[in-house]
Amino acid sequence: MDSCLFCRIIRKEIPAKIVYEDDQCLAFEDIRPQAPVHFLLIPKTHFASLNEAPPGAEKLLGEMLFRAREIAREKGIGASGYRIVLNTARDSGQEVFHVHFHLLGGRRMTWPPG
Ligand code: AMP
Ligand code: ZN
Repeated sequence: MDSCLFCRIIRKEIPAKIVYEDDQCLAFEDIRPQAPVHFLLIPKTHFASLNEAPPGAEKLLGEMLFRAREIAREKGIGASGYRIVLNTARDSGQEVFHVHFHLLGGRRMTWPPG
């Protein structure tokens, strides 16, 4: 996807504070952090949201969840806790249409979310 913001971050055309990278995914700090720890974890293959996840993406998405857990541990919030958010389509408030997990932590979260 030529014009996709997150694809451009993957290609290093747009700078980001990269937290983790491997062959299948990239994690980087959210530009407007909503918590002391707030990063995004994205697959290197483009799909717009969970609704567009292709058949077979279960393994990738599951591995990304475990990767998010690992990064949370490395950031020192594994035990204190964190929230993983996957906004999907209009009512969620999704703004960037390249699927991404938010990982937020380092402060007490409230529930329900806004
Ligand atoms: P969502 O509402 O789930 O689509 O969230 C998109 C997130 O991407 C927001 O939290 C934004 O702050 C974040 N974001 C937008 N542009 C950038 C960027 N260039 N680098 C890092 N994060 C970004
Ligand atoms: Zn993309």
